[in-house]
Amino acid sequence: MNTKLQTPIDYLKGVGPNRADLLRKELGIHTYQDLLNLFPNRYLDRTRYYKINELQRNSSEVQVIGKIIRFREVAQKRGKRLVATFQDDTGIMELVWFRGQKWIKDSLKVNRPYVIFGKTNWYNGTFSMPHPEIELLDEHKKSLRSAMQPIYPSTEKLTNKGITNRVVSKVMQQLFLDTKNRFAETLPEHLVSELNLLSKSEALFNIHFPKNQALLAKAQFRLKFEELFYIQLQLILKNLIHKSKIKGVTFDKIGTYFNTFFNNYLPFELTHAQKRVIKEIRSDLGSNAQMNRLLQGDVGSGKTIVAFMSILIALDNGFQACLMAPTEILSVQHYNGLLEWCKKLNIRTELLTGSSNTSSRKKIHKELENGELQLLIGTHALLEDKVKFKNLGLAIIDEQHRFGVAQRSKLWHKGEAVNGTVIPPHILVMTATPIPRTLAMSVYGDLDISIIDELPPGRRPIKTVHRYDKNRLKVFGFIRDEIAKGRQVYIVYPLIQESEKMDYKDLMDGYESIARDFPAPKYQISIVHGQMKATDKDYEMQRFAKGETQIMVATTVIEVGVNVPNATVMVIESAERFGLSQLHQLRGRVGRGGEQSYCILMTSHKLSSDSKTRLETMVRTNDGFEIAEVDLKLRGPGDIMGTQQSGVLNLKIANIIKDKEILQSARYYAKKLLKEDSSLTLPKHQVVLHTYKQLSKFKNIWNYIS
Ligand code: ADP
Ligand code: MG
Repeated sequence: MNTKLQTPIDYLKGVGPNRADLLRKELGIHTYQDLLNLFPNRYLDRTRYYKINELQRNSSEVQVIGKIIRFREVAQKRGKRLVATFQDDTGIMELVWFRGQKWIKDSLKVNRPYVIFGKTNWYNGTFSMPHPEIELLDEHKKSLRSAMQPIYPSTEKLTNKGITNRVVSKVMQQLFLDTKNRFAETLPEHLVSELNLLSKSEALFNIHFPKNQALLAKAQFRLKFEELFYIQLQLILKNLIHKSKIKGVTFDKIGTYFNTFFNNYLPFELTHAQKRVIKEIRSDLGSNAQMNRLLQGDVGSGKTIVAFMSILIALDNGFQACLMAPTEILSVQHYNGLLEWCKKLNIRTELLTGSSNTSSRKKIHKELENGELQLLIGTHALLEDKVKFKNLGLAIIDEQHRFGVAQRSKLWHKGEAVNGTVIPPHILVMTATPIPRTLAMSVYGDLDISIIDELPPGRRPIKTVHRYDKNRLKVFGFIRDEIAKGRQVYIVYPLIQESEKMDYKDLMDGYESIARDFPAPKYQISIVHGQMKATDKDYEMQRFAKGETQIMVATTVIEVGVNVPNATVMVIESAERFGLSQLHQLRGRVGRGGEQSYCILMTSHKLSSDSKTRLETMVRTNDGFEIAEVDLKLRGPGDIMGTQQSGVLNLKIANIIKDKEILQSARYYAKKLLKEDSSLTLPKHQVVLHTYKQLSKFKNIWNYIS
């Protein structure tokens, strides 16, 4: 790399100590290199010169060549404005200044050709341009500044202190003069030619001074590719290092538990996707590296059985396992579901939640430590320090988006201590909140990813409709018909922390009106909400699960994981108040049996455009990944778990959402390169090693190295 690029920015002609200080503080620009990497946010297209008679009302910025033929001052309410009459061979227009008039009048010359640039107004029968950018035609022609004018990131303070876009452009020009526009290549030669990329120097030149649209596009592509390439390279390297360094316990056999279950008790034929994922997990568990795997599968795709069969492998090898879920309801449901299979296989399992009483807790603690207990299912309670395993070999976290990284790492330390060092358990995290593939690759680069992309056979896609509140009676009629067919119905109300009281009132009002329209004894209604005691919630859930009640009125506590295959209708009240992933989760509570299921999104008439997009998306598709992509577009990646730490938000030029094709290609080439040469020792990869090391010094890009 060019050593000159490490020069402090103070030394660049036209910068000086004050400006340098501001550039450091406001934009983090310390060196020539930093300035070079200050990429424009956008470009003004100055390729075209307009004639005055071509100007249109409501057009954006335009550029005109002409002469000032006279100045005049016009008095106005406060002070005066300076107006110049500007002329070309097709007509006249006006230039207007409200500030700095004296300076302008003194510095601009009458009857010399100028190029002006700015927005125009239509005022009193003429076009006028307030505070135009103005430059003598001769200078304009000489300027290195190109026709696509870059607009650089800035801050209010910078502009106030006179570091305008123009100043930044000038300083940038100086930088290119100083360095003679020669920058060392940072990608391997073979990649540059294979992908037909611009060279580093050409790319940098054209990002700052694009000659035309086509070259700008090529420059952007090259720099985005490079940025994503090095991030991917780093993530993949980290993953490789993890695999070689973090030893795990090796589960080398598939034993009686697994085989007995597989041969005698498998309740259905596994889907291809489930089989594939179990294979992936098996091969991880059988290697001597610790597994760290994310299992993504849409709601209802059958993750539970995959989890259970992984648990059986751990047990077959004489290790304990645990399964942690985010809510009490979900843990109870997992426990009840798995208990049946465990009984058949003679596996000792227990449930541990916040509401477990002291004596059963004590018993659990004891049996965990002496190894009698083989499988522990529960909530966060599993993470408590008192919970110690004899030899925990596998920890599974369900609906992992509800848990933080800290919790994941707590589980690590519950592994088996051998000679004083803890061997972490294998970790499988499961989520139905699909993280868009593109983002998952970047964010969870340290996790391996398995995807169940196939639903069990016989599932019919859920029909989703959007209905306004005034059609409620029709909706109730539909519910009655479904109940008459023996089906069950969820009606869900939003619960948003800030207005919990109001939400509670909505829920109760709703409940009362439903109770009126669906009177006992013909109809039985369950109600579940966050303010109920866990045992009461559980009681109501069980009644619904057993079919004793036909309607379940609830807040979003039922969002995650609840499984009642006979329920076919999900009514979501005030659906405009839910986020997309939440709506999708809720919808996933139905469509779990063989019957046609429905999701009805109820809203008022007042809808924001984002709400409309969410509702339309839900109506259009059942595909969780597609929904996640839309969600990502609406919310940006900032809200998605893990993005904060990953550095994807600190990208200088690439955009994780818009540039996903480039990301995919960058990942592909990074993988390919590391496959061939994981230690980056080949001569042709020296440039990669060198650049990688350089980049690693810059914390702002590489804060992933925590
Ligand atoms: P999720 O991935 O949302 O956790 P579950 O594991 O709860 O999904 O499975 C949803 C439903 O599908 C359950 O009733 C489960 O028994 C059933 N199921 C899972 N896999 C299959 C399969 N291969 N064939 C038929 N039904 C299946
Ligand atoms: Mg589940």
